[in-house]
Amino acid sequence: MKKETICIQSGWQPKNGEPRVLPIYQSTTFKYESSEQMGRLFDLEESGYFYTRLQNPTNDCVAQKICELEGGVAAMLTSSGQAANHYAVFNICEAGDHVVMSSTVYGGSFNLITCTMKKMGIECTVVDPDASEEELSKAFRDNTKCVFAETIANPALVVLDIEKFARLAHAHQVPLIVDNTFATPINCNPFVWGADIVTHSTTKYMDGHAMSVGGCIVDSGNFDWAAYPDKFPGLCTPDESYHGIVYTKKFGKAAYITKATSQLMRDLGSIQSPQNAFLLNVGLETLPLRVERHCYNALKCAEFLEAHEKVAWVNYPGLPGNKYYELAKKYMPNGTCGVISFGLKGGREAAAKMMDRLQLAAIVTHVADARTSVLHPASHTHRQMNDEQLREAGVAPDLIRLSVGIEHIDDIIADLAQAISAV
Ligand SMILES: *Cc1c(COP(=O)(O)O)cnc(C)c1O
Repeated sequence: MKKETICIQSGWQPKNGEPRVLPIYQSTTFKYESSEQMGRLFDLEESGYFYTRLQNPTNDCVAQKICELEGGVAAMLTSSGQAANHYAVFNICEAGDHVVMSSTVYGGSFNLITCTMKKMGIECTVVDPDASEEELSKAFRDNTKCVFAETIANPALVVLDIEKFARLAHAHQVPLIVDNTFATPINCNPFVWGADIVTHSTTKYMDGHAMSVGGCIVDSGNFDWAAYPDKFPGLCTPDESYHGIVYTKKFGKAAYITKATSQLMRDLGSIQSPQNAFLLNVGLETLPLRVERHCYNALKCAEFLEAHEKVAWVNYPGLPGNKYYELAKKYMPNGTCGVISFGLKGGREAAAKMMDRLQLAAIVTHVADARTSVLHPASHTHRQMNDEQLREAGVAPDLIRLSVGIEHIDDIIADLAQAISAV
């Protein structure tokens, strides 16, 4: 099936007389006739539901849909994008291990991996995603367990050379984990280019309406953990917390997701609520339509801004002449995302003044939903930094992040035009 069809038809498959629409299984627990049957579930001898912290039918249907959209073999939902990235890395890294990470990843992921996971004993080397393969190779160590990067970085809008990163990771016998939030599976399938695991903040385009925070992890099933049992003992040696099960032996291509569910979700518990999964599923049904409109509108806005005399610079990978235009064409031929960044000639002050004049576009922290929104990192998320610190963090003091929505393009541009004319 094509992606448009998967978005509508996959996941929930009702049997005779069952509800046509995915039901919300708002139940913590599931009933069984015999205690022996329930015991087999706990031994992972049989699959079935027993407690929503481990698995829930509503969540599983939605995870299955995202899995098919990405072309993976297994997937799980998490309570947030942060939880997805934490589990994706922590599932194969423990104290004493090491991660290679692109410097331009989302601030939340940067903090998670360089600060919080450091407290768990996991080291990280931050690399420039545009560096040569030779340069990047120097970041790897014997204890490196994965490479982590983003398809389109939020908010730097750097497009990842996925094939280059996959080659590097595989040359060092580790998987490439790609956060595909901004591109969505509609515009890019990282597995096609060699990525092994994909994560999502479903909070963004997938939910699409700024209603529910959520995340997802998808496994391609392509990485051969069993070929490196010394590197990945968690997957290749008996799990004492689960009756000595060896995940790669018992679950084959589903080993990684099964371990993440039966170990990390069991013990750390960042589940998505079935109610949120239901809302996410509604968002997924229209994802291809919305993504197409987001990209169309964003390109029009980028062109408008580029031609405006009061605009100093525009960064949008879909714009010809952009540093990442060629990479974007290769990996995302149908479009990139709806997020643009730009600066006004009047700098930081002009940015604040312009934003106050906007009527349609709202000032919010969120990105990637149906409504056009703006954020000025120097005045908001990075407020505590001075101009020099901002530059070091890769955030220009005048940078305005514009998340272009799916309203009519004429109204979005009219709003930008009137606000910019005031500065
Ligand atoms: C927002 C975001 C996250 C974090 O997701 P939450 O759902 O807010 O926890 C991770 N990665 C990227 C690229 C994001 O944009």
